[in-house]
Amino acid sequence: MVQRKRSERVRRTLLRARADFILRAAMTSLHDPDLAAADPAIAALIHGENERQRDKLRMIPSENYASRAVQEACGSALNNKYSEGYARKRYYEGQQFIDPIEELARDRVKALFGVAHANVQPYSGSPANLAVYFAFCKPGDTVMGLGLPHGGHLTHGWSVSITGSYFKSVPYSVRRDDHRIDLDEVRTLAMQHRPRLLFCGGTAYPRTWDFAAFASIAKDCGAVLVADIAHIAGLVVGGAHPSPVGHADVITSTTHKTLRGPRGGMILCGPEHAQAIDKAVFPGLQGGPHEGSIAGLAVAAKEAGTDAFRAYAHQVVANARALGEALAARGYDLVSGGTDNHLLLVDLTTKNISGKLAAKALDRAGIELNYNTVPYDPRKPFDPSGVRLGTPAITTRGLAEAHMEQVAGWFDRAVRAAADEAALEAVSAEVKAFLGDYPAPGLSV
Ligand SMILES: *Cc1c(COP(=O)(O)O)cnc(C)c1O
Repeated sequence: MVQRKRSERVRRTLLRARADFILRAAMTSLHDPDLAAADPAIAALIHGENERQRDKLRMIPSENYASRAVQEACGSALNNKYSEGYARKRYYEGQQFIDPIEELARDRVKALFGVAHANVQPYSGSPANLAVYFAFCKPGDTVMGLGLPHGGHLTHGWSVSITGSYFKSVPYSVRRDDHRIDLDEVRTLAMQHRPRLLFCGGTAYPRTWDFAAFASIAKDCGAVLVADIAHIAGLVVGGAHPSPVGHADVITSTTHKTLRGPRGGMILCGPEHAQAIDKAVFPGLQGGPHEGSIAGLAVAAKEAGTDAFRAYAHQVVANARALGEALAARGYDLVSGGTDNHLLLVDLTTKNISGKLAAKALDRAGIELNYNTVPYDPRKPFDPSGVRLGTPAITTRGLAEAHMEQVAGWFDRAVRAAADEAALEAVSAEVKAFLGDYPAPGLSV
């Protein structure tokens, strides 16, 4: 009797729980609140970031504003889809729309750069480079790249990177006197060490890359030449920097820097390396590609093929040059004496302020950049002698050479007033008011 009562109670509890579950499931499927309703904390933080990007001179040279169209493509139902493999050779069903999206991205990138093959699946610039190692190297092989303290990238064999611990890295440098890459040193080291991969490209090198000279060295020492154009991809397609196509065996890049696309990476090459690269990306290194980002890249590649984008790329360089001249006129010491591209490296030693203190003061003054080592820096990387700044993002907002005097003036005031909070705030207010006339694309404020 007691036992029968208890099982009846259990049965009722289970029924109630099941009814409750079905009701909640029905509610969630009908009720799909927007971000502000679902997660006010995250919504408020994103709103704050939008305002910050609206109100500041964003001068970190690797950053930009992606268009609304690019961002819409990225944040879509494509995020829900798995598509391991390549178009028409997938491991999952339901690729009726994914395949043409990835093919459009790939074909537009190929046309934009004028290459035979493009892999648009790398999640970002670093995985793109790792895939190249996997395609061509065995652990322990020798690789060469510009040393990190001289403007190279971590993934070109720097010690703390996986590329510096699984491979034997021989970094090359810039000259002490003019801060240009020492091609004689590159050749000597390359002939001596016979690297499997020779990287050219960097993150803080303000000068033009001589891809033909690197190609000749790579040919003579038997290396695969990898041009990493992460920073300058937009300048290359816009005709504002020479193209590595025809010189480099493989080209890697991010898609979110001067190219103004979504966060992502890509690898370009001729037909002879197409299969090795594709195999290295998938199944070698990655699983399912981020098709939302790939759709965003398709949109960005379409935008980058326009005359307006060509004009943009040239304006980026013209602005950087004008800014460099305006800073030099105020006594700032530019690494290599100036710039050929979108970025400037300023050595603040003669201004008696460290790069970090200056960067923090500039940020409070509404000028966002980063502290950076300068070549042969006597200071530590966490508090180096320089700052790095560039013009890609402010040029996207429509600033031109004529504005660079003004920007240099604010820069100078902020560096001089690094300890004066009120003065920094005054600059920040002026910057914000000025930028009101130059709306940024893609922001939701
Ligand atoms: C930015 C950059 C990368 C890495 O890109 P992530 O997207 O940050 O992984 C690689 N190489 C160079 C030269 C870069 O400037």
